[in-house]
Amino acid sequence: MHELSFTRAILDIVLTHAEDAAAVTGIHVTLGQLSSMVDDCIQQYWSIIASGTIAEHATLHFTRIPATMRCTTCGSTYSLDDDLPCPHCGSTVCELIRGTECYVESIDIQPACEEESV
Ligand SMILES: [Zn+2]
Repeated sequence: MHELSFTRAILDIVLTHAEDAAAVTGIHVTLGQLSSMVDDCIQQYWSIIASGTIAEHATLHFTRIPATMRCTTCGSTYSLDDDLPCPHCGSTVCELIRGTECYVESIDIQPACEEESV
């Protein structure tokens, strides 16, 4: 159900920003490595909830951001793929600084026909 509400939120954002467009052709979504969103689920929900809107044929593109930790002892940052504890000082006290993002990065639109178009 997580994906469904997230997909609804994407649609809201897209329709708000693409109000004057003829169609939305693509949506670029950034997801942190640790966000539990499943790309395929979002795309499936999309075809259902975007149906009948100008964004119904949009393709969703997903970018994954790797999780990054910051050691609270020495302040260095490192990828979660590295071994815990901190590779620099050995401390296990760390905080997650990136990796749980989920937001709309950009939208591809097909502009509405204006007078200046040929
Ligand atoms: Zn450290």
